[in-house]
Amino acid sequence: MPCFRCGARQTDPVRGASPWKRGVRADRQVLICPGCQTARDWAGELDRCSACGSAVLVCRLGEVECRDCGHTRDAAPADLVHSGAPPGGSGDGDLSAEVAAALTRVLKKGPAV
Ligand SMILES: [Zn+2]
Ligand SMILES: [Zn+2]
Repeated sequence: MPCFRCGARQTDPVRGASPWKRGVRADRQVLICPGCQTARDWAGELDRCSACGSAVLVCRLGEVECRDCGHTRDAAPADLVHSGAPPGGSGDGDLSAEVAAALTRVLKKGPAV
């Protein structure tokens, strides 16, 4: 899986902990490369735990779990998030807000178009 911000590929893993971080963005599991971790507030582009505000989340089958406090919530159905930003897109932070707004609209109004 490439970095969600810059599209960089994870290089051959060094033994031990990977410098890449995991997160969840628009209910999808993403990775953040070490380079982007030094960028401005990268965690602000990720989904946050609704209970503790942590960005350390993991996305599993239909569920997003907080690694800090263990809070879980249902992830949006895959067909809703599928139309989201392609990985390695523009890398612009506005995209996540757009996706969130779109999701909110869909969730409120239902599937009718
Ligand atoms: Zn990156
Ligand atoms: Zn939490």
